[in-house]
Amino acid sequence: MNFKELNLHPDVLTSIEAMGYEKPTPIQEQAIPVIVEGKDLIGCAQTGTGKTAAFLLPLLHKICSGDRDSDDINALIICPTRELALQIDQQLEGFSYFTGISSIAIYGGGDGEGFAREKSALSQGVNVVVGTPGKIISHLNLGYVKVKNLQHLILDEADRMLDMGFYEDITKIISFLPKERQTLLFSATMPPKIRTLSKEILKEPEEISI
Ligand code: AMP
Repeated sequence: MNFKELNLHPDVLTSIEAMGYEKPTPIQEQAIPVIVEGKDLIGCAQTGTGKTAAFLLPLLHKICSGDRDSDDINALIICPTRELALQIDQQLEGFSYFTGISSIAIYGGGDGEGFAREKSALSQGVNVVVGTPGKIISHLNLGYVKVKNLQHLILDEADRMLDMGFYEDITKIISFLPKERQTLLFSATMPPKIRTLSKEILKEPEEISI
């Protein structure tokens, strides 16, 4: 299979070519059609399988194909650490080069300057926010991350987030979001507490395991 057969938006295909990706990895082959269809998804996959692109590419496709006029963000990606937030945002910037989609990484442990920079970028409007739980909550509480029209929520490395004690933070974030949305959850392992969280926040999800 090649990327063209996955029916992605032409601007996303141009970015994939520019990144030098020749063909989708197994998780990409399986996850992309499900996400493009608009379904919720549980993806059980380790780092190194191409799981980041497996959610970013169809996400960009959907944002390119949909309504981008709103001031609100289209998608929120929650992940456990600053390093991962930066990595996801870097891949996102690579893939969105030809799409005009904008994004920002927001993460904890920063100084006041970091917060001011994030606030200023958020106030100019971005399509995708990638961040760590505590920092997302701070910006949500202050109204800087506008989620009224959010369409997509992604949790990456969900098992690690729960190990770090973020369960309540995650449910708190979700209490701000519209109920009508697409939710994707990626995790390297599927312990019972991930099952419980999935039942709470996903609707009739498809499940893929690599
Ligand atoms: P991840 O599992 O998301 O951490 O990705 C691991 C690495 O594989 C990253 O450096 C990606 O840029 C790269 N990658 C992801 N998908 C592909 C692909 N289809 N072809 C070549 N490299 C890829």
